Amino acid sequence: MTKKDRLKPYCEKRDFTRTPEPSGESPRSDSENPIFVIQKHKARNLHYDLRLEVNGVLKSWAVPKGPSSDPSVKRLAVATEDHPMEYADFEGTIPGGKYGAGVVLVWDIGTYSNITQNQDQTLSVESAIEHGHLNVWLEGEKLKGGYSFVRFRREAKDQWLLVKMKDEEADPANDPVVSQPNSVLSGLSLEEIETGESPATS
Ligand code: MN
Repeated sequence: MTKKDRLKPYCEKRDFTRTPEPSGESPRSDSENPIFVIQKHKARNLHYDLRLEVNGVLKSWAVPKGPSSDPSVKRLAVATEDHPMEYADFEGTIPGGKYGAGVVLVWDIGTYSNITQNQDQTLSVESAIEHGHLNVWLEGEKLKGGYSFVRFRREAKDQWLLVKMKDEEADPANDPVVSQPNSVLSGLSLEEIETGESPATS
């Protein structure tokens, strides 16, 4: 599938003359490691969109409660349509009445590496997603360490569980969604982006 084909569901849901979201037409320069981003999105319901760069697009999951750093906590992650690479640093307001209408901020961004093992071999991210079991190591501003994705239901929108792996970055005492609510790019909260207010500067 070409990048254009992969982004078709994304493009069909949006009118780019009406939304500030990117259309996916401009190329992005490749960094050494693939990127990940988690966008906090206040739409009909507040949720966190977790996206992983895979072959030139952002594979995406909506995580209603956001990620946890506690390995005993399982979080639902619902697969959504691939997004264009330029979406990674999108932050702003999506106009009312349109798909996903609401406010988006970049909650975390960084690079990741695929650590999925299958019989001592590293499985490619695409194969891992196909097989329904993906392990990644995140190097974000907020999230670090191993995270595991396990698909438990295949349907129009596949359902996965997102779980922090047991490693030195696990921290059951910290709930990053609560302790670090704002944008890693601008420092703004959803409310500040929504009202167009910038934080007080001295
Ligand atoms: Mn969303």
